[in-house]
Amino acid sequence: MAEIAIRVQNLYRSFGDFTAVSGVSFDVPRGSVCGFIGANGAGKTTTMRIIASLDYPSSGTVSVCGLNVVNHPAKVRRLIGWMPDHFGNYEHMTVLEYLDFYARALGYRGKERQMRVEEVMEFADLFPLADRFSNKLSKGMTQRLGLGRALINDPEVLIMDEPAAGLDPKARVELKHLIRVLAEDGKTIFISSHILSELGEMCDHLLFMNDGRIVHEGNADSLRVSGGRANVALYRVHIVGSPEQLGNWAEVNPNVELMETLKQGGRLEIASSDPEQAAYVLARMIQDGLKVTEFHREERNLEDAFIDLLENTNQAGAPAVASS
Ligand code: ATP
Repeated sequence: MAEIAIRVQNLYRSFGDFTAVSGVSFDVPRGSVCGFIGANGAGKTTTMRIIASLDYPSSGTVSVCGLNVVNHPAKVRRLIGWMPDHFGNYEHMTVLEYLDFYARALGYRGKERQMRVEEVMEFADLFPLADRFSNKLSKGMTQRLGLGRALINDPEVLIMDEPAAGLDPKARVELKHLIRVLAEDGKTIFISSHILSELGEMCDHLLFMNDGRIVHEGNADSLRVSGGRANVALYRVHIVGSPEQLGNWAEVNPNVELMETLKQGGRLEIASSDPEQAAYVLARMIQDGLKVTEFHREERNLEDAFIDLLENTNQAGAPAVASS
């Protein structure tokens, strides 16, 4: 069985009458990249702050590498790197001074301190920015500095709250690459975002939070299934001639539905995920005279799948924790 880096058991956190985290439980295996997805206000930051020993649970237990975060906050902090969604920079402090300051605060001295600072500057490509003022950096540069800071103590577990928010596409690609390199180095990475597609391809495992609860656990594929559409498949169909022909054909044929009209055809939902059924539908279209030039299966958009999942959860009236 995989070792557990982060264990959250029946976690609750209330602020006055408001419950921000409501009975959350999950494990993050050591060496994995786990994405934590949820809309604004879902309770992600609150949960992450408790894991990082920056806040207390109202009830429940949280441990990092087997250490309870409430009982052993100092030891836990030595094991983790925390990258908050916003962090304060000091005026008139250069990038180099900023990292050196944190290394000193963490207890590194002399040659070792210099080595730690140089290592993270190399990793996060901060050498070109060494003499720039840390409060005068672009968003992407600031995130690299935040990552460098979170890595100063060479943590086993890296907790990143919305690190990609506000980054341009190039900076996002760079960040993804750095995260992958860290994962290959054996670090456990727990990373939040409200943009699902951002995390889907980079994470081994995804946790979905809504209204303070985990509503789904799994990977991107299991979400597509749990979105309530396990037994359907979406096909893109192009035909020669008016796309209306496809709609008219779908109307009189059972087990197919035109979901969207496209310039050259449409997106057809087939009421089965069996490829044989798709082959049968294609054969019938051709038999009925449609001039099909393209017919291929399309992956379901992750954002849509998540929205379906939330709708299903709300309709059921209770949080459905699906896992795979
Ligand atoms: P976002 O993506 O916007 O950062 P989130 O999923 O991280 O959202 P949290 O920041 O954990 O959500 O907030 C969850 C809920 O708890 C929100 O309704 C928020 O207003 C509330 N909340 C968080 N911290 C406090 C606090 N210190 N006092 C009162 N309410 C709080």
